Amino acid sequence: MANQEVIILGAGLAGLSAAYHLQKEGVACQIFEKEAEVGGLCRSKKLDGFTFDYDGHLLHFRHQYTFDLVKSLLKGNFIKHNRSAWVYSHERFIPYPFQTNLVNLPVDVAQECLAGFLAANKNGRVKANESFLHWIDRTSGKGIARHFMVPYNTKFWTISPRRMVCDWLDGFVPQPTVAQVMDGATKEGGQPLGYNACFWYPEKGGIEQLSLAMKSRIEHIHTGFEVKTIDLKARQIEFANGVKKKYHHLISTIPLPQLPGIVKGLPKDVREAFSKLRWNSVYNLNLGLSQKKRCESHWIYFPQKELVFFRVGFFHNFSSGLVPEGKTSIYAEVAYCKQKPVDKKKVAGRIEKDLKKVGLLSDEDEVLVRDSNDIQCAYPIYDRNYKASRSRILGFLSKHHILTCGRYGSWRYMSMEDVLLEGREFSGKQFG
Ligand SMILES: Cc1cc2nc3c(=O)[nH]c(=O)nc-3n(C[C@H](O)[C@H](O)[C@H](O)COP(=O)(O)OP(=O)(O)OC[C@H]3O[C@@H](n4cnc5c(N)ncnc54)[C@H](O)[C@@H]3O)c2cc1C
Repeated sequence: MANQEVIILGAGLAGLSAAYHLQKEGVACQIFEKEAEVGGLCRSKKLDGFTFDYDGHLLHFRHQYTFDLVKSLLKGNFIKHNRSAWVYSHERFIPYPFQTNLVNLPVDVAQECLAGFLAANKNGRVKANESFLHWIDRTSGKGIARHFMVPYNTKFWTISPRRMVCDWLDGFVPQPTVAQVMDGATKEGGQPLGYNACFWYPEKGGIEQLSLAMKSRIEHIHTGFEVKTIDLKARQIEFANGVKKKYHHLISTIPLPQLPGIVKGLPKDVREAFSKLRWNSVYNLNLGLSQKKRCESHWIYFPQKELVFFRVGFFHNFSSGLVPEGKTSIYAEVAYCKQKPVDKKKVAGRIEKDLKKVGLLSDEDEVLVRDSNDIQCAYPIYDRNYKASRSRILGFLSKHHILTCGRYGSWRYMSMEDVLLEGREFSGKQFG
C-alpha cells in the first residue's frame, strides 16, 4: 500500500467511501469538495418543516457487506419498506411491474401484451451488439414494448432505445417468467419483482444521514474547494479559491464531462472521446403540501409523452418524519438533454398542471413549499459510442495517475450501493 497520501476529489458517496475504506487501512487521505456540504446527490434539504432529498434516493441492497456497513453507519436509524410502486397507463394506476399486472389494463390491451409476450423469446441474455430496443422487443414482446417499455424508456433516457446498447441492464429491468406474466394477466396481486421490490430508508433526517454518518468517520474533508485545473505533468491541482496542491495519488469522482475544462493538455483523440459522452439531466421539483388525502404509494411511473414527468414519488411514505404532522410531500422528475431541452422557467408550472391532470394534486391543496434541483449530469447514456469513449478516457487518465470512482467519475449506471462498493475497491490497491 502506498505510504504517500491519497487525494480524493468530490465528497459524494463515492469519494466518502474511498476515503472511509482507505483510512481504515491506515492510508492518509484528504478529500476536496466544491460544495459547502458533503454528500453530492445523497443530500437532503430542510425547508419549513419539510425534508426533501435531491430527488428520491432509496437504498436497495444486493450485498450483505453494504447492508451491514449502512446499518452500522446509521445505527438503527433505518427502516425497511415493501415497495408500493405503480404505472400510470390507460388513465388508471396499475401496480409495477407492468409486465406482471396486465389484468389491470383494458382487456384488448392486456390481450395484446400477453400475446406478444408469449410469442417473444424469453431469454433475457443480451446478444452481442444488440440494441436496447431489440432486446425489449425480443424479451417483452411487441405489446408490452408499445404500451410501456418503449415510451417509458424513450422519455426517461431522452433518446430512442434503438440507439442504446444493453451493457447497463444488470438486473435494473425486471425479467418475469411466463408463469408470472400469465398469473398477472388473470388475477390481481402479482408478485413483487425486481431489484427494488423492497428498499431501506433512514427513519429520521432524510437520505443525507448516510453521507453525514460517513463524514463523521473521516478525518480530512475540505469543503468549498472547487477543482479548477489539474496539471498532469506537474501533478498539481489548482482550486478556484487559489490554493494549489501537489499530488502523488489521485482519485477523481468529478463527472467526466467536466474534465476537458479542468485537465490541461488533453490529446485530440481523448478530447474526441470526451465529446462523444452522452447523458441525460433531471429536473426535480419537490412540493410540500397541505394535502388531506394522502397518496399511499412510494412512486409512480409515467410513460406518456403528453405528461411532463417520468416519475412522481411521495416523501411522506418513505418516513413520516419528512413532513410536518398532517402534511404531505411530492417529488416529480423530468428528464431532458441538450437535444431535448426543458424550459426551466415554465417546467415547474407544467409539472403542477400535469399533477392535477392525473389526480395527484387538486385545487384545494395548498402548496406550502416549492423546491427544485437541476441535476445536470444524471444518468450516463449507454449508446454505441459509450464503451470505446469511456475506455479511451479512463485509460488515458489512469496512465497519468488519475484513478476514477463513482457514478460520474467511472461513468457507469450505479446505485448508492454500487458506489459504496467501488469506493471500497481502493483498499489494498497499489497506487502507481
Ligand atoms: C435522479 C436520480 C435518482 C437516483 N435515485 C437513486 C436511488 O433511489 N437509489 C440509489 O441507490 N441510487 C440512486 N441514484 C444514484 C446515486 O445518486 C449515485 O449512485 C450516487 O449518489 C453517486 O455518488 P457519487 O459520489 O459517485 O457522485 P455525486 O454524488 O455526484 O458526488 C460527486 C461530488 O463531486 C463534487 N464535485 C463535482 N465537481 C467538482 C469539482 N470541480 N471540484 C470539487 N468537487 C466537485 C460534487 O459536488 C459532488 O459532491 C440516483 C441518481 C439520480 C441522478
